[in-house]
Amino acid sequence: DKPRVLVLFGGRSSEHEVSCLSARGVLWAIDPDIYDVVSVGITRTGRWTLMPHGVPRTREGTLPAVPEDGETVTLVQTRVGPRLMLLPDDVDAGAADVVDADRGRTVDLGGIDICFPVLHGPYGEDGTIQGLLASVGVPYVGADVAASAIAVDKRQMKHVFAAAGLPQVAHDVVRRADWERDPEGELARIEGLLEYPVFTKPARQGSSIGISRCTDTESLRAGVEDALGYDRVVIIERGLDGVRELECGVVGNDDPVITAPGETIHTGASFYDFDAKYLEPVKLQCPADVPDDVIERCRDYAAQAYDAVGARGLARVDFFYLPDSDEVLVNEINTIPGLTPQSMFPPVWEAQGVAFRVLIDRLLAYAMEASEESA
Ligand code: ATP
Ligand code: MG
Ligand code: MG
Ligand code: MG
Repeated sequence: DKPRVLVLFGGRSSEHEVSCLSARGVLWAIDPDIYDVVSVGITRTGRWTLMPHGVPRTREGTLPAVPEDGETVTLVQTRVGPRLMLLPDDVDAGAADVVDADRGRTVDLGGIDICFPVLHGPYGEDGTIQGLLASVGVPYVGADVAASAIAVDKRQMKHVFAAAGLPQVAHDVVRRADWERDPEGELARIEGLLEYPVFTKPARQGSSIGISRCTDTESLRAGVEDALGYDRVVIIERGLDGVRELECGVVGNDDPVITAPGETIHTGASFYDFDAKYLEPVKLQCPADVPDDVIERCRDYAAQAYDAVGARGLARVDFFYLPDSDEVLVNEINTIPGLTPQSMFPPVWEAQGVAFRVLIDRLLAYAMEASEESA
């Protein structure tokens, strides 16, 4: 029997649509001769629904929207292993007697051998889904609970990177409670520590959502307010001008393989914002046209960053390269990087001769390997 892969996508985060674009490529890439695939879309409220679509014929494009009225499924451990269950549709939330024949019965949709959570941001990339999968005993692609939680939280990630001695941009933190008590005091404190421009970011988001470039007190105030709409912690960073953005792909468990960095060249936007990432044509240069020693520094830092947060499976490590001072700074790590046709992770591997289908196959193999070790 072929191993059965559960592909999870959509989800509660503001990166729901990005996840649908990533998942389409993953569903297209999983080899049907090796694996059976079952596709579950998570709604914006967190309900798991069975997706009726088959294997997409092309990698590009999105998936049908996750239906708000689709049938609810769940994953449970049973006497015969982890199974996907279809819940009776007409059970009232909170109904005590779920086995009442009139209310239908739970239907066993079969065993699940491995999960590929193709989810970005909160409730997907942050350890929560990973915790659910671990607790029901389903091996999964990517970082474990602790590594995911550290990597997704820019404040914790920066602490861990600093402890590993990785070079980073100067930053500070604003907490919602302090901001609500004394916004003027917080603004004055930040202005005493960092010069404009600065970037404001919610601590736990992705796809540049909630990120602003601020050039004066009023835009800083607006940037903090906006980011506080996503998280109770906001990161304020010194803004780097004239910077080049390099990103390395990493895959593997104990001895990960690291690509040469690719470069994102965004001519229109003032930074690599959401529109530049997904709505406008973006230029990806793989590998980046930078000196060899810059490539080597990126690879070296990527390996250290991966190890520092305890990542497994895959990650993308993002850098700032300042050509004038010849500095490479680590910006962040993403443990479920975008896998859309516009994303950097697939082409940095293609540039080294690893086709997308081969890459996805390896990720599933690394997940099985990691679960066998921990057993
Ligand atoms: P991802 O989609 O990669 O997960 P993210 O939402 O986690 O993104 P960052 O990668 O931290 O956010 O920042 C998004 C973009 O904002 C960067 O790619 C860069 O263009 C710009 N940016 C962020 N921080 C800075 C900075 N300190 N100086 C200059 N530009 C920055
Ligand atoms: Mg990120
Ligand atoms: Mg991200
Ligand atoms: Mg980034």
